[in-house]
Amino acid sequence: MSNSTDELFKNVISHCKEYGFVFQSSEIYDGLSAVYDYGQNGSELKNNIKTYWWKAMVQMHDNIVGIDSAIFMHPTIWKASGHVDGFSDPMIDNKDSNKRYRADQLLEDRIAKLDEEGKTSEAEELQIEMDNALKAEDLPRLRELIIEQNIKCPLSGTANWTDVRQFNLMFSTQMGAVADDADVVYLRPETAQGIFVNYLNVQKSGRMKIPFGIAQIGKAFRNEVIARQFIIRMREFEQMEMQYFVRPGTQKEWFEKWKAARLKWHLALGTDAAKYRYHEHTKLAHYADAAYDIEFDFPFGFKEVEGIHSRTDFDLSQHEKFSRKKMQYFDPELGEDGKPYGNYIPYVIETSIGLDRMFLLTMINAYEEEDLSTEERQDSRTVLRLHPCLAPVKAAIFPLTKKDGLPEKAREIMDKLKLDFNIQYEEKDAIGKRYRRQDAIGTPFCITVDHQTLEDNTVTIRHRDTMAQERVAADDLEKIIGGLVSW
Ligand code: ATP
Repeated sequence: MSNSTDELFKNVISHCKEYGFVFQSSEIYDGLSAVYDYGQNGSELKNNIKTYWWKAMVQMHDNIVGIDSAIFMHPTIWKASGHVDGFSDPMIDNKDSNKRYRADQLLEDRIAKLDEEGKTSEAEELQIEMDNALKAEDLPRLRELIIEQNIKCPLSGTANWTDVRQFNLMFSTQMGAVADDADVVYLRPETAQGIFVNYLNVQKSGRMKIPFGIAQIGKAFRNEVIARQFIIRMREFEQMEMQYFVRPGTQKEWFEKWKAARLKWHLALGTDAAKYRYHEHTKLAHYADAAYDIEFDFPFGFKEVEGIHSRTDFDLSQHEKFSRKKMQYFDPELGEDGKPYGNYIPYVIETSIGLDRMFLLTMINAYEEEDLSTEERQDSRTVLRLHPCLAPVKAAIFPLTKKDGLPEKAREIMDKLKLDFNIQYEEKDAIGKRYRRQDAIGTPFCITVDHQTLEDNTVTIRHRDTMAQERVAADDLEKIIGGLVSW
């Protein structure tokens, strides 16, 4: 049994590999740092999380539609959005260990240490100095502070530091055959810009009226320097984002609505509410007028899973400026003064959730090492108590033995069910072992076909969570499974 959160996390990671959920990318070449592949069960679970999000955001709202924009976009988009100049971290290298650190992180750690030692005024002073240096983008000052504080590299133990340099998090590559600057394109670091630059295309072609939303699920890429904690911080990951376009002046109200709605979405999966909390951003980005994170209590502490941001009209105004195309919306509705609202650039509320963090959260939440020992014998099982809608496999079908026509009967039942559900057929090993394998991937139902099935067309259905078994008519299976796993 896992007795510490550290151990729990390690066990979940190895479970992910052992049962085909997540593999290190390029493993046979010793892996590629902070890049992961999803296996046969992981990709099913991931798809189910996407479906849950898409249904909640797009299908359930008649004023929200989805798009799928390209990963490559015109490079000027990233100038307009501020990513070329601003999407970077201040980094410093230790000359002895050749290890690279985020300069602000080294100072944050130092501030926390001073606080711990009760040196509060020193901590406060350093915090102010650091904030000022960051705001002024004064990189030499950041280095000075690190030297003044005599901060040492945890690896080499020395304070032999290089200069601080800005390190942009965007991956770039070349488009076309000629490698000059004009051809540089970026792998998008967020999906949101694909929505902003298409907002009028969608609005006009879909005759959308404000307020309306555009949703998108897609890959994003960030050259994270400090990659750690498994799939929490990856270099290639997936986001599920929605931009909600509203009338200026109404953004506060919509922000509150989306903040509440998004937490409700998380809790509807049955997660303990105490595992979630909101975190308010006090230091807002220059374009935001409110920002909250939804954080989850991972084994290594609370960590952001989703951000809800009130982004004002910043992005659309920037695109108007850089593209020289009008980004205004014409609002024909009448205001209190009886006149149409007319032309304006909408304000935007964004909800942005990391699919991979949601995946990890789901695995950690579902994972249980259950003690089944009785007085007579010790026993245990690892079970994934996934919400049935998210389970990769909805039901497994087992012929009791490999003979007497049982496999054929089992396959006949499976052929009917597989039109609606992802079903797995298994005939190897004893039934008990097969149950354990399905528990480990979170399959809600196991169906056993035995000799009685050939006589009366009934089967045994075993429930994952209670392990209770019952005899039911094979013809009722579709209804029973559907009742639990349908959205
Ligand atoms: P963090 O502060 O943890 O780096 P962020 O504030 O940069 O996250 P956003 O830019 O708001 O994150 O992105 C929205 C969501 O995308 C995050 O809430 C997170 O779930 C996810 N995300 C961001 N960066 C990564 C990453 N490197 N790997 C996996 N998911 C990520």
